[in-house]
Amino acid sequence: MPLSFFNTYSREVEEFQPRNGKDRKIDIYTCGPTVYSRAHIGNFRAYIFEDLLQRHLEARGFKVHRVMNITDVDDKTIRGAREAGVPLTKFTRQFKDAFFEDAEKLRIKRADEYPAATDQRYIDKMIAMISALISKGLAYQADDKSVYYRINKFPNYGKLAHFNLDELQSTGRVKHDEYDKEHIGDFALWKAWDKDDGDVRWDSPWGPGRPGWHIECSAMATALLGDQIDIHCGGVDNIFPHHEAEIAQSEGVTGKKFVNYWLHCAHLLVDGQKMSKSLGNFYTIPDVLAKGYTGREIRYALMRVNYRTQLNFTWDGMKEARESLGRIDDWLERLREIADKKNGPSRTGVKRSTPNAQRPIEDSGFEDALDDDLNISAALGFLFETIRETNRAMDQKKLDAKTAVAWLNWWDRMNQVLDFESDGTALPEEVAKLAEARLQARLAKDFRKSDELRDKLNALGWEARDTKDGQKITRRAGA
Ligand SMILES: [Zn+2]
Repeated sequence: MPLSFFNTYSREVEEFQPRNGKDRKIDIYTCGPTVYSRAHIGNFRAYIFEDLLQRHLEARGFKVHRVMNITDVDDKTIRGAREAGVPLTKFTRQFKDAFFEDAEKLRIKRADEYPAATDQRYIDKMIAMISALISKGLAYQADDKSVYYRINKFPNYGKLAHFNLDELQSTGRVKHDEYDKEHIGDFALWKAWDKDDGDVRWDSPWGPGRPGWHIECSAMATALLGDQIDIHCGGVDNIFPHHEAEIAQSEGVTGKKFVNYWLHCAHLLVDGQKMSKSLGNFYTIPDVLAKGYTGREIRYALMRVNYRTQLNFTWDGMKEARESLGRIDDWLERLREIADKKNGPSRTGVKRSTPNAQRPIEDSGFEDALDDDLNISAALGFLFETIRETNRAMDQKKLDAKTAVAWLNWWDRMNQVLDFESDGTALPEEVAKLAEARLQARLAKDFRKSDELRDKLNALGWEARDTKDGQKITRRAGA
């Protein structure tokens, strides 16, 4: 099956054709975090999907150039800074740092560039784009001094979200308190300064103010990737109005098709409900880590469901993630034991992609599944079926060192995409602390305390064993 994606624009699964087929270079733009609070697990589900997309494209031989923007000025960041009584840059810095910290924990590959909306380079680009839209009659300055996009003049407005302007009127999705606009759906390109903005302001031909959120992405995307992009991603909640507006702005200025493939990730639910602070089911990455889970376990849990399907996050799901990764760990350990036997080729002695390595059975099922609109559940199904089969062969002692090496090479290739392999050291923070406390208790011969700590470790799904080499902490079987 050829590499295909569901394109939100056409509502169809389309075969992927890169713009630049010759050197297989692809441009991807992904909407990044608005840094007014710590990103939650729903945000990270989208970033994990984008990571999977990039890695699979790379596995298929494409050279991906990916840009992810940081929205560091908008209504929410300004309000947050004002309430905290600190300058905007200081307020957003902490959440930018937190975002990168969390993304690293989840092994998300870094984008090539992370442009920030407040960078003067991009502010200049936004102003230039707004000027071009005004001169084309696609935008106007209203009595409130703000500049708005005139959506009636852009015939394709609504094509991405698949609704027309009349429906827009009745959806109630547009605020009705903005009287200065010609059409209720006209959106702000430039917001005139008002006193609540404090010192957040830039000069422009229309007076002091700040950019609207949508123009930020159009400006940063075209500044860094050019007028046309292969793939643009985001969450489904970005489709309207954000991405709809990006199309109207970018195409309004350039007259060229802005994006060839629009890919959107479905929502994440928690225990079957929408995540919200008032329901107490609102989790950040540190919240999940504090429950004793690791970054790779969260990565697994957020990746395992196809990106266009709603993902229901539950603590049972986290346990399943741990179990599934445990199965992979155990399988790799067995294969390595066999591969290392009889002075056979040790794993480290084998190049990652030895072309002559024995290729076990039909082995492209994993990649083929991902070619089908990133069907990760089918890909993981293939992986675990493979694990079952090879485990059976190992049980029956029918798997020799050479085959084990071939399977390990095969896994290396899959793991370039999944990045699920244990790095061997990573005990969750809480587990590491309990283990250290237990060690100290034993040294102090406080066995009652040491037993208590062992029980606590057990409850978290870990086992403490005392061996001649000292205390060993392992996952509990079935935990
Ligand atoms: Zn965006």
